[in-house]
Amino acid sequence: MSVDKTDLQASLKKYFGFSTFKGLQENVVKSILSGTHTFVIMPTGGGKSLCYQLPALMQEGTAIVVSPLIALMKNQVDAIRGVSNEEGIAHVLNSSLNKTEVKRVKEDIVNGVTKLLYVAPESLTKDENVDFLKSVKISFLAIDEAHCISEWGHDFRPEYRNLRQIIGRIGENIPIIGLTATATPKVQEDIIKNLGITGANTFKASFNRPNLYYEVRPKTKNVDADIIRFIKQNEGKSGIVYCLSRKRVEELAQVLQVNGINAVPYHAGLDAKTRSSHQDKFLMEDVDVVVATIAFGMGIDKPDVRFVIHHDIPKSIESYYQETGRAGRDGGEGHCLAFYSYKDIEKLEKFMSGKPVAEQEIGQALLQEMVAFAETSVSRRKFILHYFGEEFDNETGEGGDMDDNVRNPKMQHEAQDEVKL
Ligand code: ADP
Ligand code: MG
Repeated sequence: MSVDKTDLQASLKKYFGFSTFKGLQENVVKSILSGTHTFVIMPTGGGKSLCYQLPALMQEGTAIVVSPLIALMKNQVDAIRGVSNEEGIAHVLNSSLNKTEVKRVKEDIVNGVTKLLYVAPESLTKDENVDFLKSVKISFLAIDEAHCISEWGHDFRPEYRNLRQIIGRIGENIPIIGLTATATPKVQEDIIKNLGITGANTFKASFNRPNLYYEVRPKTKNVDADIIRFIKQNEGKSGIVYCLSRKRVEELAQVLQVNGINAVPYHAGLDAKTRSSHQDKFLMEDVDVVVATIAFGMGIDKPDVRFVIHHDIPKSIESYYQETGRAGRDGGEGHCLAFYSYKDIEKLEKFMSGKPVAEQEIGQALLQEMVAFAETSVSRRKFILHYFGEEFDNETGEGGDMDDNVRNPKMQHEAQDEVKL
């Protein structure tokens, strides 16, 4: 399908109300419209959804979107329905639908009304669904969060491994679009290989976040006091403090409260009502700080988070990048402060020890990269971007002086001497 620039602009405005594309979106949309396999690597918040939603809306037939989380699919479907007056324009097909609902979805697809069909990978494996999809016009198949296909990704899902084979059963020449925010070369290779899209048009956005300041400090027994001091120096600003365990989350939230900081805990052990109330308070700025496990953050879109503190070092650079990435979404300042002690690495190793050997090996490799990051004297930004396969020059690159190792190369030695004395 060939479309010219004015068509694209008009459709962007019509369906999403935006006047300009963000980053690489326009080229991705063109690639998809041309019917070629396409691979998109963009950081979280980069605007990946629009890359497949727009061409789906502009084309004949239904685009199948595979996504791992039902909640995310529902959000996207609601958003698409919101811009169109046609409810059938987007549907979710999953096991929670009753017979009447499934019938309605299928009718809408057959009648050409449905442009986007979201499915969880496990629904796609069902024979009845494969048979049905084989019989209708499919524009393309998009696999969101495509890193789930890779054991090297932070969220491996075995169901993703069957996708290639199922797509083949639905149709032989369906264009495949993979999208991910995971930028490591290993994961990318895995995705391309497993989806069988060698030679796909590949679009990779930069992962540099120039407005984030990266800092790692040694973790001592005074870490709580260090955190309190930092937060008090940033009074009134929004921030997140990540801890490894629920217990630590509870304890630290209390310590902060006792010290006059407006903080709430958040972890998966709290009941749903408390969780959503704490999240809302943070979004509405009734509280300044959320102390949380990694359960907090998926889909949280608060633009003015000014700091992210890691009380415990994360299990991989990818996790660290995702979590720190929640700071400074509005482009304003974002201070990322991690406390590091090798003891914490040993704790993480212990967590892994019950897992299958292959998983442990991968976990170890990821963890060692994290150690290298924490202990490096090289620019943190350079290190992260190198990990993601990107060259970065601190002299010319944006944000080149925004980390502790670049700003204070000497002070680190002094700090170490101090400990020895
Ligand atoms: P990702 O999936 O890459 O994390 P999303 O698709 O969720 O990112 O988009 C992130 C945000 O960017 C959303 O709020 C979306 O509305 C916004 N967005 C996407 N494209 C554009 C655009 N062209 N102009 C303005 N905002 C955009
Ligand atoms: Mg997304």
